[in-house]
Amino acid sequence: MTDRRNFIKTSVLASAAVLVNSCADDKPKVNKKVNKPIVLSTWKFGLNCNEVAWDVLENNGRALDAVEAGVKVCEADPNERSVGYGGRPDRDGRVTLDACIMDEMSNIGSIASLEFIKHPISVARAVMEKTPHVMLVGDGALQFALTQGFKKENLLVPDSEREWKEWLKNSEYKPIANIENHDTIGMIALDAQGNLSGACTTSGMAFKMHGRVGDSPIIGAGLYVDNEIGAATATGHGEEVIRIAGCHLVVELMRQGKSPQKACEEAVSRVVKLMKLRKKELKDIQVGFIALNKNGEVGSYCVQSGFNYAVYDATGNRLIDAGYHIKV
Ligand code: ASP
Repeated sequence: MTDRRNFIKTSVLASAAVLVNSCADDKPKVNKKVNKPIVLSTWKFGLNCNEVAWDVLENNGRALDAVEAGVKVCEADPNERSVGYGGRPDRDGRVTLDACIMDEMSNIGSIASLEFIKHPISVARAVMEKTPHVMLVGDGALQFALTQGFKKENLLVPDSEREWKEWLKNSEYKPIANIENHDTIGMIALDAQGNLSGACTTSGMAFKMHGRVGDSPIIGAGLYVDNEIGAATATGHGEEVIRIAGCHLVVELMRQGKSPQKACEEAVSRVVKLMKLRKKELKDIQVGFIALNKNGEVGSYCVQSGFNYAVYDATGNRLIDAGYHIKV
């Protein structure tokens, strides 16, 4: 009897230990030496955006303010033809923008298919801070932006209009990987206080169907932040990122103890698996993730070569080529 009681006691204690351990495993240990502040963003245009974000971060600013200010650089640049002002239009010739933002307290805001507003990221932030909702789309998003004092302007620049007219001659909508007909600025940052935030903004796929929304304004797909764990953002074929709830997946993989690099690799392998399952050509798509954890460690991975990202920390601002799945 005593043995049996002891056995039960030991088993209960053992299960309790497992429970405690599994709870403890839930949060990766934060190193004493955290690499902060730090900001990273997708593609080469991230270098300029990082500069502005870094100004905020090195002055002890909030990661949220850093990522908003950072991506606005790209949104305002008419030569960046896949984001904001100057973005390529949809197949009806309309520039429709998608964006979202997330802070360290899991406040979220998002807009999709927004026209005529140069800084969709700031409208997304206003949705987050000034409405009881998390996402506004199309006309409703525009109406809201106007009530918030945003100016209505034409976003279609002559070069984009010319390309669209050229495209109309054949009007074939085919996703083509790694050419300049899409891209997104996704930016994630860890500030000096150790808080994480992220922002993501794009004009989406060039010549897309009117009303098409990609991953970029979808919290959990194009962006996700968990202030206890890390943050991730995505670029590439939004349909494939949404299918795997990409950035939420990357953050959950980091929660399980994976490094940002391994988490991005695993997320890309899910994309690959589902493309195979659906008998789709992997070489026709690109998907890239970047990730940052609470220690200020970074990682990235993509389907095929050509994706790069910009990292700015105490050692400076630099462009890094992401690792890729398809080795030719
Ligand atoms: N993810 C964006 C979209 O699907 C495009 C891109 O980043 O290339 O709209």
